[in-house]
Amino acid sequence: MSGAAPLLRVEGLTKRFGGFTAVDNVAFTVAKGEIMGLLGPNGSGKSTTFNCIAGMLKPSAGSVMLEGEEIAGLAAEDVCRRGIGRTFQIPRPFRSLSLFENAVLAAHYGAGESIDRAEAERRARDALRLAQLPDDDTARVSGLGAAGLKKLEMARALATQPRLLLADESLGGLDTAEMQAAADMLKRIRDERGITIVWVEHIMGVLLSVVDKVVMLDHGAVIFTGTPQEAQEDERVAEVYLGPPEARAA
Ligand code: ADP
Ligand code: MG
Repeated sequence: MSGAAPLLRVEGLTKRFGGFTAVDNVAFTVAKGEIMGLLGPNGSGKSTTFNCIAGMLKPSAGSVMLEGEEIAGLAAEDVCRRGIGRTFQIPRPFRSLSLFENAVLAAHYGAGESIDRAEAERRARDALRLAQLPDDDTARVSGLGAAGLKKLEMARALATQPRLLLADESLGGLDTAEMQAAADMLKRIRDERGITIVWVEHIMGVLLSVVDKVVMLDHGAVIFTGTPQEAQEDERVAEVYLGPPEARAA
């Protein structure tokens, strides 16, 4: 690692819902240009961590620094305008609008300064192309399957022109080939655009082939930080994913 300040630094991040601690003192850093995988079983606090970073939830405690600036507690639109784009685990496009209009709206939403229609359309087309979707105004949301809806989530996030992309469960509902294509797309977004990515996933396999670094949550706390290779050899990671050694099939 270089001595440069990380793009994202999360420290002591905690989120309580009443007496229940969903995110417990989480800390990690993401270097510029890195793809980090945030892994963990269902209910381990991945989406809550995301939502605290993206401003959908106010952290109970802790710090979220984007290039050295504190952003914890900012509203979602302010976080977006500072350069953090996110996808949602459950795609929720405007179903009555075309793919193109969905991306145009996202471009307007994400622009720090107000941009004119032509610039919003340019950003929308670029984002749709990067997500491998048609960039004309005829394609409808109703024609999309699970993989298409995931791509549209990605296009909407990209149209906000993020420095940091938070991708939540990009593989849910996809078959094996679609999973590989989704993983390749994230890699291409980083390689071609230099966009830093935090990729949340409960499915480990295909993610490990793409990410530079893995952080694993269990019951809201970080239980592992390391390279994909170290993750594959780590006993705590294996326990969370496969169960205790005595319970594993021989
Ligand atoms: P993951 O994304 O890893 O599957 P989540 O972050 O969605 O997990 O949830 C972590 C835990 O926090 C779960 O036990 C979930 O039920 C709980 N939780 C999430 N959101 C809320 C909420 N708004 N109110 C109460 N509990 C919540
Ligand atoms: Mg989740």
